[in-house]
Amino acid sequence: MDPRRSGQDVLRCTLCEASETSRHCVVCHMHLCVDCIEKHLSDKTSFHNVIPFHEYLSTFQYPYCSHHPTKKCELLCEQCNIPICASCISCGQHLGHKALDILEELESKRKQIKKDLHELDKIIYPDYIDAVSSEHSQKANMEEKSEKLAEIVNNKERLGAMKLTALSRKCNPKLTI
Ligand SMILES: [Zn+2]
Ligand SMILES: [Zn+2]
Ligand SMILES: [Zn+2]
Ligand SMILES: [Zn+2]
Repeated sequence: MDPRRSGQDVLRCTLCEASETSRHCVVCHMHLCVDCIEKHLSDKTSFHNVIPFHEYLSTFQYPYCSHHPTKKCELLCEQCNIPICASCISCGQHLGHKALDILEELESKRKQIKKDLHELDKIIYPDYIDAVSSEHSQKANMEEKSEKLAEIVNNKERLGAMKLTALSRKCNPKLTI
């Protein structure tokens, strides 16, 4: 069986990413399989409220379709990146487009955001702080240097202009610049 296909059919446990979800922790926004419930509850860094998954599904609000206001969108068009309903599909607007399970997409987006935030915390942020602070101490130095550089360039330009004038006078004595 194509693993991607089977992944679309059932929602996987957030923890082990292997077994089918049977519970949901509303505090941590995590899907849990039977095996992982205990493991999740043993994490004392946070308070947990684990509810049956079907209860979570019944509280999940599918967005209404912007084209068909009476219909709810259970799918997301990958190409158009918008929620779509059954009528959207049947009217052929998204012919050949890939329709994704909106619930699953939300989950993977949330996971991605969590990952991004984590990376931001662990890697990017300290780097950024480093860069900013070293930039700060270098700034005074840089300003001094750039002033000197401008001075040198100015002098060279003046010198160059003088030489050029002298040269053109030599080649063309009648020319006045
Ligand atoms: Zn699990
Ligand atoms: Zn939890
Ligand atoms: Zn629609
Ligand atoms: Zn589409």
